[in-house]
Amino acid sequence: MSTPPADDLIALRRDLHAHPELGFEEVRTADLVAGRLRAAGLEVTEGVGRTGVVGTLRRGGGGPAILLRADMDALAMPETALARPWRSTVPGRMHACGHDGHTVMLIGAAERLAQAEGLEGTVQFVFQPAEEGRGGARAMLEDGLLDRFPADRCYGLHNMPGLEVGEMAVVEGPQLASSDRFEVVFDGTGTHGAKPHLGRDPIAAVGQFLTAMHTVVARETDPLSPAVVSACALAAGDFDALNVIPDRARIGGTARAYAPEVRDATEAALGRLAHGIAAALGVTARIDYRRGMPPVVNAPGPTGIARSAAAAALGAGRVRQSFPPSTAGDDFAELSTRVPGCYVWLGNGPAEDGALHHNTRYDFNDAALGPGIAFWCALVRAELGAG
Ligand SMILES: [Zn+2]
Ligand SMILES: [Zn+2]
Repeated sequence: MSTPPADDLIALRRDLHAHPELGFEEVRTADLVAGRLRAAGLEVTEGVGRTGVVGTLRRGGGGPAILLRADMDALAMPETALARPWRSTVPGRMHACGHDGHTVMLIGAAERLAQAEGLEGTVQFVFQPAEEGRGGARAMLEDGLLDRFPADRCYGLHNMPGLEVGEMAVVEGPQLASSDRFEVVFDGTGTHGAKPHLGRDPIAAVGQFLTAMHTVVARETDPLSPAVVSACALAAGDFDALNVIPDRARIGGTARAYAPEVRDATEAALGRLAHGIAAALGVTARIDYRRGMPPVVNAPGPTGIARSAAAAALGAGRVRQSFPPSTAGDDFAELSTRVPGCYVWLGNGPAEDGALHHNTRYDFNDAALGPGIAFWCALVRAELGAG
């Protein structure tokens, strides 16, 4: 069962919370991480993928190699919980996703495991920069992460408001969606608003596209395999020129899915609708569909190991085997599409105001540090074969 974390880990978590750094700017955080790992006796490599840090624990001559990943970055948003003594000291920067807690739990586990007996194998403790949409996992991979620090399996963990502290969810299959962006530009011929027949109206096209795009999920993709298509930006014309039909109209948004075939179908359907509507209305369309992160899909093998580890750490009754996937994304997917992996959810307590991810009053729950560290340690014992 989990033991409470030492006071210095709580102090470290609050210190990181007070000093949030955005993706690829985690210089202070990475320094702290490297210092703690080095003091614990691990081999430490800094500057992997710019501000990433890898601590390597090697025991014996054989055994498996596993990769444990924590993210370190904060978000560009203000913290509004002014009464919190450890609130952000940097205006417009905040740890609103709990990556401060993730970092400290992996440090705590590394420190504890550095003292452990009877392990055989290698653990790569990966402290990743820039998870929040800035491509930190990809930067580490491009810097040779998996060649320099090879692993048979990879594991990631995220705190989850709505799960009790001391509870975890370890679920096979899709956990987080792919995250793609699209932009469609309709080019017509601008004209006097009173003489639409003399031009070609791109606003009429963008209006039809907006309506039609919502048929992708309703008519194109498998109803049993979730997808989201949302328009999040729309631009055309000028409110100071309400008698002018413009040349151009733009629309953009996000597309999410859990299955590769749903992702492919969504991309194809958006392109077909854009070009079809443009052809029907005599304008032209250009679509730029950019694939971002792939979905996070937990593989059966590592999921089984993670589930037994969670049960050993917290008690079998505290481990949920079904939990709804999230439509958010995580670039842990860049790792788990290359190495079989499992991404687990750790209870952060009630999902109420001030405890929701990316909320200006969010805080990582320090009571979750103990269960998180206990899980990581049990996972390493399960993988590296100590009794
Ligand atoms: Zn986040
Ligand atoms: Zn996060």
